[in-house]
Parts: sequence; structure tokens; C-alpha cells
Amino acid sequence: MTHRLRSSILPLQQLQGPCRPMDIRVDFYLNDLDEIISVGQEWDDFALKNGAPELAGGGVIGRPLLDFVSGNVTRHFVETLLLTARAGSQPVELDYRCDSPDERRYMHMRVSLADNNTVCFSNTLLRTELRSKKIFINKAAQRSRNTPVRCSMCNLLLSKSQWIEPEHIFESGPGETHGIFVIYGICSRCFTELQSIVAPAGVPDSVNPALPC
Ligand SMILES: [Zn+2]
Repeated sequence: MTHRLRSSILPLQQLQGPCRPMDIRVDFYLNDLDEIISVGQEWDDFALKNGAPELAGGGVIGRPLLDFVSGNVTRHFVETLLLTARAGSQPVELDYRCDSPDERRYMHMRVSLADNNTVCFSNTLLRTELRSKKIFINKAAQRSRNTPVRCSMCNLLLSKSQWIEPEHIFESGPGETHGIFVIYGICSRCFTELQSIVAPAGVPDSVNPALPC
């Protein structure tokens, strides 16, 4: 059976802006040490378009995947995802968001075991939606009481006990630009759904999605 995660995103009626269907695929492979050993043709384009030129041109080859994963809860899930993919005979599939400052990006990931105990991550960009205002999100160097948590899966932010779209944090008009510093975790909805696809490896009870770091 294929493991599949769905609906880790807001209901469609809460989304704004035109929608553009897409079918861009970005692949990469890990060796048995979970180091990136190759990337697909679309990798460089995607890295450059996402403002990460340091990741293009082979900049990620030889580096552990976990070097690029923030937050203890998210790192634990990635490790468990790898264990699940390696242990099972079928791929693990899940939906997630990989937003840019001006777009919501809806992605689909397929993690499958390949030759010689390598693992293939195949990421497909399904569609995008323009934001009404640009939001630049950066990783906070330090966590304070007021630092928002950003869900690594659905990209929502935890604000006043609610997981919301980042533009809803700011009371301002369309076209304005904002910056925000966050720490990374996983929201309660994505946490529950991820648990269902990584079973039976499971997640320790001590892992609390509200305490990402
Ligand atoms: Zn989430």
C-alpha cells in the first residue's frame, strides 16, 4: 500500500489569488548515509527561482539531507520518513507547501527506495497561488516568547494559538511587503497526518508539535 498524506493545507475557500496549475518536478537522491548524491535537471532552476543560488550548481552534493531541515520535530519526521521508505515495499507520498515570498506553492512528494539502498525524493509542483502581499520569512537565530512557529509541512504560522496564513498576521493592505522571523515545527493537523504515514515507526510521545525546538 502506498502511504499518502493529504489535506494538510487550509480549505480552498480561505485561499486568495489566481491559481496556476503546474507540473514541474524536482528530484534528488540520497545514499545509504542520507547524503545527497545527485539531483535532477530541474534542481538548479528551482533553487535559483527560490533565491537559493548556493544550492545550485552541485552545492548540495555530498551533504546530509538533514543539513537543510530546521526544527527538531521536522528533523525527526524526515528521519522517520526515510526509515519508512526504506522499510516498505511501496513509496511514501505526501502533500506539502513550499511557499515563496509572493506565492503559495502546493507540492507533492514521493519518497521511494531505489537501487543500492538509495532513496529518491521526487517533488512535483502542483499549482501556485499569488499572495496579495509579499511575505519574506526568515529563520530566527534565537527563539523568543513571541517568535512564531512555522509549520514545515503546510507553511502556516502559529499565532495566538491559531495556525493561520502568514499574511493574516499583518493588518495592512494589498501590495505591501513584510518580513518575519520564525522557528520551524509541525502543526497539530500535519503532525497527526504524518503520524499516520510513518507508522509503525511512529513518533515518541515526548515529541510535542507545539515545541519545535
Ligand atoms: Zn501544518
